[in-house]
Amino acid sequence: MKISICEQSVLSAGVDNKCSLGGQQSFGRQRARIRHTQPSRQSERSTHQGRLVATPRVSVIGAGLAGSEASLRLAAAGFSVDLYDIKPSHFTPAHKNPDFCELVCSNSLKSNDVTTASGLLKEEIKRLGSYVIAAADANAVPAGGALAVDREAFARAVTLQLKENPNIRIINREITDLDLPEPIIIAAGPLVTQPLADAIRKYTGDFLYFYDASAPIVDAESIDFDSAFMAARYNKGGADYVNCPLSRDEYYNFVRELAAAERVEAKDFEKISVFEGCMPIEILASRGEDSLRFGPLKPVGIYGKDGKRPFAVVQLRAENAAKIAYNLVGFQTNLTYAEQRRVFTMIPALHTAEFLRYGVMHRNTFLNAPKVLEYGFRLKGSREIYIAGQLSGVEGYCESIMSGLVAAENVIKYIIGEDKLSLSPITMTGALIAHLATENADFQPMNANFGILPLLGHKVRDKRERYAELAERALGEIDVISTEASQTRSGEISLTE
Ligand SMILES: Cc1cc2nc3c(=O)[nH]c(=O)nc-3n(C[C@H](O)[C@H](O)[C@H](O)COP(=O)(O)OP(=O)(O)OC[C@H]3O[C@@H](n4cnc5c(N)ncnc54)[C@H](O)[C@@H]3O)c2cc1C
Repeated sequence: MKISICEQSVLSAGVDNKCSLGGQQSFGRQRARIRHTQPSRQSERSTHQGRLVATPRVSVIGAGLAGSEASLRLAAAGFSVDLYDIKPSHFTPAHKNPDFCELVCSNSLKSNDVTTASGLLKEEIKRLGSYVIAAADANAVPAGGALAVDREAFARAVTLQLKENPNIRIINREITDLDLPEPIIIAAGPLVTQPLADAIRKYTGDFLYFYDASAPIVDAESIDFDSAFMAARYNKGGADYVNCPLSRDEYYNFVRELAAAERVEAKDFEKISVFEGCMPIEILASRGEDSLRFGPLKPVGIYGKDGKRPFAVVQLRAENAAKIAYNLVGFQTNLTYAEQRRVFTMIPALHTAEFLRYGVMHRNTFLNAPKVLEYGFRLKGSREIYIAGQLSGVEGYCESIMSGLVAAENVIKYIIGEDKLSLSPITMTGALIAHLATENADFQPMNANFGILPLLGHKVRDKRERYAELAERALGEIDVISTEASQTRSGEISLTE
């Protein structure tokens, strides 16, 4: 018995997608067989022919960026979705719009330029059929080269798509445990309510973090090695750290500017004491002008090119095996991005630093992805539970949307009995997924950046040209996947052997 997956038109904020996948490229193979018929994955519904057939049912928790994308994707593939959200009767401390898919802060989904990391990620997921990006495009406001949206219209448009989709049942309820039919996609966001966070922690075994306290990451090539030098403290182990020395004057000027720099204003729910171990660097600086010299900038055991100990030293640690990106050790910060750029480039070796990621510090519940997630957003363990959105360890709007798309695709593949999606790490999407699955003793949420892509096989000196080549390589790969998907797409899903 077959049911059509093109029974309904999926509206996409003014973009008519016609049948589920016809209007947009998508990387899901649609013609496949259900190998098992598990009651928990099934529900009954009428086809256009009036017969009752079993359709797979998926539970999605959270109708934010990731949950909306996942639900629309699943529904478009012909699956029934139970989409749970505490809205509109309750709100997390950052949400206030009764509509779903709310942008809680900036209204920008960043650059459209594919030679920027966020632009490349956005273009990839657009080509892979993202419904949420299509809605963003349809509700864009002028913002130079960036994709900024009218946030109200954008949320309204996605909410309408969710509500009008006959495959999606929206349930206004707080989920407090994992006692739902599987497969489940948990996309409850960085401000997930406490009972659900507790239930996830119980299932994963404690690997859940509550603060995002990350330090900035800079491009290795932008470090000035006339000033910086490689060394290990007390020469222990390899000379793995990049050391950025500061003279007495440079140090005190830096500390003064750092202590006075503009900070991101904390919301009420974020005014919580921070562990001493992840104290923002600017707070340490304001405790006394020598506190950094005896803390993260201490020079003991480090000797410069002249064989002398610097007055103070900022250490940078490699972010990846290829050593193309470095983080500033101990520099977790709550400064505005502009101030991070202004103050941190006062460090002589970083005067031309290019920031691949700025530091952030806010309440942010996220999983220790390398420990608890399989490649492709499924939680390790016997149950079919997937995590999408910021909770999964990605950082950012587009990254959250991407994870919703990929998690949904993997749920579809699980239901139809196909192998999980495997995306080459030369794509920004694939690189982010691989990053989450790579062992990392100090895992922090990750956003799109060129530092996580494998190097080109040849040297391209000009950074802009190099990024353009990396983007071309990534999009070429995405186009191959999309073409393969469209060739195997038939518009029908078989529900019987
Ligand atoms: C304060 C703050 C500001 C941010 N600003 C930016 C920014 O400017 N730019 C950027 O790129 N990224 C930003 N982020 C990071 C991230 O991109 C966003 O949080 C993004 O919305 C994450 O998408 P999501 O789908 O994971 O979660 P969300 O979009 O937050 O969606 C989660 C949904 O789950 C629902 N929910 C929560 N708990 C439950 C429950 N127990 N049961 C049922 N429903 C539940 C919520 O109501 C919400 O609708 C910010 C994060 C925070 C916390």
